[in-house]
Amino acid sequence: AVPDVLSGYTTVNVLSDKARVVDNSLVSDYTYENATVKRLPGGKLEVTPSKVDYNFKVDLKVPKTGLMMVGLGGNNGSTLTATILANRYGINFRSKQGLQKPNYYGSVTQASTLKLGVDEDGNDAYAPFNQILPMLHPNDIVIGGWDINSANLAEAMERSKVLDYDLQRQVAKYMAQIKPLPSIYYPDFIAANQNDRADNLIDGDSKWDHVMRLRQDIADFKQKNELEKVIVVWTANTERYAEIIPGVNDTAENLIKSIKESHEEIAPSTIFAVACILDGVSFINGSPQNTFVPGCIELAEKHKSFIGGDDFKSGQTKIKSVLAQFLVDAGIRPVSIASYNHLGNNDGFNLSAPQQFRSKEISKKSVVDDMIASNQILYNKEKGDHIDHCIVIKYVPAVGDSKVAMDEYHSELMMGGHNTISIHNVCEDSLLASPLIIDLVVVCEFFSRVSYKLAADEDAKFEQFYPVLSVLSYWLKAPLARPGTMAVNGLNKQRACLENLLRAFVGLGTQNELKLEERLW
Ligand code: NAD
Repeated sequence: AVPDVLSGYTTVNVLSDKARVVDNSLVSDYTYENATVKRLPGGKLEVTPSKVDYNFKVDLKVPKTGLMMVGLGGNNGSTLTATILANRYGINFRSKQGLQKPNYYGSVTQASTLKLGVDEDGNDAYAPFNQILPMLHPNDIVIGGWDINSANLAEAMERSKVLDYDLQRQVAKYMAQIKPLPSIYYPDFIAANQNDRADNLIDGDSKWDHVMRLRQDIADFKQKNELEKVIVVWTANTERYAEIIPGVNDTAENLIKSIKESHEEIAPSTIFAVACILDGVSFINGSPQNTFVPGCIELAEKHKSFIGGDDFKSGQTKIKSVLAQFLVDAGIRPVSIASYNHLGNNDGFNLSAPQQFRSKEISKKSVVDDMIASNQILYNKEKGDHIDHCIVIKYVPAVGDSKVAMDEYHSELMMGGHNTISIHNVCEDSLLASPLIIDLVVVCEFFSRVSYKLAADEDAKFEQFYPVLSVLSYWLKAPLARPGTMAVNGLNKQRACLENLLRAFVGLGTQNELKLEERLW
């Protein structure tokens, strides 16, 4: 009989002879089919199909997990916490639209589906994304974290002006009990206009002591809440870029040495990342700065500790990573993308300083790089191999968290014609970003339960994935990639990767859209 491999774990029963449950893990056989391309002299391309057989193993037990946010008292931190509490306790609230039930709209893991196959009539059949394999549920995430500001989360939620009053009123009693831990503040890294917020700081200025204190904070949080796993997400202010200085932050060894010497070029976010890496705690950077300096990536490799970044991909860039890809794949040649934003929340205030804006500008600009590189018919030496890509961000306090994004895509059509697409996008920024944090945590936790080995090597040990967790790229604007490889920015490619990995883990073949049931006699 074909085994019902996930019986009792999810609502999807996969009947595959390519997967089996062994000691509370699901082990699958997967043939990775790809092709190697060589560029021959004269411009010809030579393509050779390739095949590698792997075994994947997924630990089916979902651990009790905590999320510690750096910047817990910010708009994202407070909005996410209130949303999880409202969902956990089933708090309905009234807005001018009527009764609103809590939900997780905007979260791929909680509110999207993936195609399993076709039903008996040949029509596509779907299941919730989180029902194919056991995944952490956001209602079960224990929340904590740090902020340089001492406001408790009820005050922070009120300050951020994101959620409806009737919800704020009802969750306030739970929120007030959460108070951010003191954090580290190196004023040079965030805008000077944030100085007034900094009233909740760890004493002393030894950067190594800071690392040790943060490690202790994580250990205490884990113990107090009886957690099996903790994930840390940076959702604090955007920092300026750190300079990459040989001998200072270029290798793991130099980075540790520089932290011990309290070198001025080591940013708070890197201190958090290092503290996490040293204890094997996954760390995700939701802001644009280069937290993961080369020495930090090397440290993560050494400790086999997961890192992911950079910068949540919420609104404008998410559309860009679909639209620019669509244009280039349609054979249309975008020649300029002008992206204009204004926002009035504290993030916008911080980004009104030039160095912090610069971090955001770099992160927003990188999104079309791989698309340009993919098409030499449109982008080449003769026609030009870049897109004029302009980013503007302005601080307009009156609009609060309702960020306005206006984008103009100007493209070259056949025979010298032109096409201009304009997009005007307004929404509460933190209601877009908070579900991304959920997905990043759920997917990061999930992948830390996955291991693999080459099928041919019977004696090989199962290894975890490479520490730069690029499967998280779907939710990140400037995806951190393994050094030496190019980041994939296209949203559809990023999603296809996730779906197909999930399928591989349960013994299903790669997703395909051939629909031969319909197309053949
Ligand atoms: P926010 O300014 O409301 O919150 C940031 C919080 O971080 C503040 O409470 C601040 O006091 C705290 N903070 C600053 N430095 C700190 C430190 N060293 N340690 C601990 N806490 C510190 O901003 P937000 O709207 O919540 O956004 C957070 C970050 O996410 C920003 O960097 C933003 O650029 C990034 N981001 C947001 C979105 C979105 O859609 N909201 C999208 C992409 C990226």
